[in-house]
Amino acid sequence: QLILGIESSCDETGVALVRAGEGGAVPVLLAHALHSQIDMHQAYGGVVPELASRDHIRRVLPLTREVLRESGEHLEDVDVVAYTRGPGLAGALLVGAGVACALGAALDKPVLGVHHLEGHLLSPFLSSDPPEFPFVALLVSGGHTQLMRVEGVGRYEILGETIDDAAGEAFDKSAKLMGLGYPGGPALSRLAEQGSATAFKLPRPLLHSGDLDFSFAGLKTAVLTQAKKLGDELPARKADLAASTEAAIVEVLVKKTLAALQKTGLKRVVVAGGVGANRHLRAQLNAACAQAKVRVHYPELHLCTDNGAMIAMAAAMRLQAGQQQPNRDYAFDVKPRWPLDAITLAA
Ligand code: ATP
Ligand code: MG
Ligand code: FE
Repeated sequence: QLILGIESSCDETGVALVRAGEGGAVPVLLAHALHSQIDMHQAYGGVVPELASRDHIRRVLPLTREVLRESGEHLEDVDVVAYTRGPGLAGALLVGAGVACALGAALDKPVLGVHHLEGHLLSPFLSSDPPEFPFVALLVSGGHTQLMRVEGVGRYEILGETIDDAAGEAFDKSAKLMGLGYPGGPALSRLAEQGSATAFKLPRPLLHSGDLDFSFAGLKTAVLTQAKKLGDELPARKADLAASTEAAIVEVLVKKTLAALQKTGLKRVVVAGGVGANRHLRAQLNAACAQAKVRVHYPELHLCTDNGAMIAMAAAMRLQAGQQQPNRDYAFDVKPRWPLDAITLAA
């Protein structure tokens, strides 16, 4: 089966084509194309929803043509059109859903609404070292920070999650107040490589809370306090502050992930979402997992943040796992708010 996937939940338009394998074979990514709106939103210091929707409209069909050209496939041969149904910005989601349903109706093919976080979660199956179920998942993105027990496709149990900001938000907000632009996570991480992680004492929120929840709002405040205290010295100490901030976030993520492994008794962990691209996180987690004799899997670096490949992949894996016939009434309804543990395989 040939599956076209469309992602438009936030500020990236992504389109991809995946071929679902026979039986248990892992689906294959044939082509994917991406347009990031970061440059457009940067001037506003964050995503402007109305601008995001309008740009998705401009990008989605050219990207679809690009993917077809690159893969050598024909639109008429697409068997299922998948799109991100939620969570995300309502107007942005409606663009992808609208285009997917229009294509489905025109081609007389079914459409399948995919959960964005399920896309992130299953994206490591596109890597050269795909995981096997069951596993603990650490989902660390711009809007979410969750530890999950994953038994299979559509079988997700949330073990813990952030009670305020997400890890990506902690990176971005700290970066913003250091003047590193938006979204500043990658820039903060690059700067951190030249700094000392022990230069500033920053809090490790909920590290010893005994549960698997996270909290990052207080850390951002501590970074702000520290930056103010530095005053004129800030530019000279910025790399140290960046390194100390990154170390605080990463330490909490790694320790809680290990606690989740211990609690579940599982010996495999999968990292997904934009912060999964962070080099310090990968290094620390790899070291901790090697010691605990736990296998760790990541998405390819360029598939950590939003993309269409993960949406096509999630749809392919759902169909392979026995997802009921996708819908043909093209009555697309998006779900801007949609908890991951609310979905099952039939839904
Ligand atoms: P969600 O998936 O929760 O709806 P999102 O789609 O905006 O949110 P992603 O695209 O998965 O999130 O990830 C974007 C986030 O990842 C941003 O906060 C960004 O700063 C962060 N990020 C990307 N690369 C890095 C990196 N190398 N180090 C730290 N943070 C990073
Ligand atoms: Mg984004
Ligand atoms: Fe995302």
